[in-house]
Amino acid sequence: MKTSLPFICNPDYPFARQWIAALQQAMPDEEVVPLSALDAHARASCTVAIVANPLPQDVRQLPQLRWVHSVWAGVERLVADLADLELNVVRLVDPQLAETMAEAVLAWTLYLHRDMPLYAAQQTRRQWLAADYARPQDTTVGLLGLGALGEAAADRLAGAGFNVCGWSRMRKSVSHVECFAGAVELPAMLARTDILVCLLPLTVETRGLLNATTFAQLPHHASLINFARGPIVCDDALRAALDAERIRHAVLDVFSIEPLPPDSWQWAHPRVSVLPHISAPTDRQTASAIVGQNIRRYRETGEIPESVDLARGY
Ligand code: NAP
Repeated sequence: MKTSLPFICNPDYPFARQWIAALQQAMPDEEVVPLSALDAHARASCTVAIVANPLPQDVRQLPQLRWVHSVWAGVERLVADLADLELNVVRLVDPQLAETMAEAVLAWTLYLHRDMPLYAAQQTRRQWLAADYARPQDTTVGLLGLGALGEAAADRLAGAGFNVCGWSRMRKSVSHVECFAGAVELPAMLARTDILVCLLPLTVETRGLLNATTFAQLPHHASLINFARGPIVCDDALRAALDAERIRHAVLDVFSIEPLPPDSWQWAHPRVSVLPHISAPTDRQTASAIVGQNIRRYRETGEIPESVDLARGY
């Protein structure tokens, strides 16, 4: 008989049915069902669940739960909501997600590097004016975060000819990347960065990391791409830095409140490009295959995949 495997998401989430179908296809030996389909006996014995931004009270309905597999890479809300439970949180690590993010980082880096915001603004004024050309070899992209996504982005950027620097908590060794580590080395990386790309998880340490102090450590006219999480950036400090032309342009895919409210300043700021959290959408098929492999191994061996370090927050 098949074991019931709950998929738990927010009741408003519009793609639950599609996720259940993709997960079911990847795991024919399981019966993937919404939480509401589990009877009392199944709830009492369930040890693993798949989650997509679940309500914490729903997860708490499973008293024997040992671990949850998220279908997203960022799990800060899950970690905060379930901190009191003795639960392993496994996040999605999918090479396809890393490739999608690397493509977005390269695309928006080129957008800034080739002065597209400038030419778009000039077009509205019918202005024919060529800016100086800089070679990618003369442009340094600084990556905040050299994890699954940061490393893939670094590879694409280096392949396109950019100088690449990267910053992580522990020192890393990545080919073609000048690596910086820890809070003490952040100012040195910022000082040589022309385009700063944020790919950090949101944790106690990274919340508000990009503020007036760190912006002041960038060269004048550096640009910012935030593809990680909104609260890593202090919005007021960013606005001030943009208004003062300390920061030339910001490409923002993530915000403290999403969807970005219609009255937010970012929508109309001439130095901001607003994206609706699209830099790296999870691919349901590849993600379901990875979740399926992990669940299968757990059923066969009892092994829980590498989990989020709850103290570290990622
Ligand atoms: P990851 O593999 O966990 O990598 C995180 C990186 O950040 C690591 O290099 C880590 O350093 C570094 N880091 C964490 N805290 C730090 C600190 N305090 N100081 C310096 N470095 C620090 O995560 P990932 O899979 O690359 O994903 C990164 C984030 O991208 C996710 O958490 C999520 O928020 C975001 N994301 C956004 C989208 C989107 O569509 N916008 C899609 C997917 C993911 P160590 O290497 O030393 O541990």
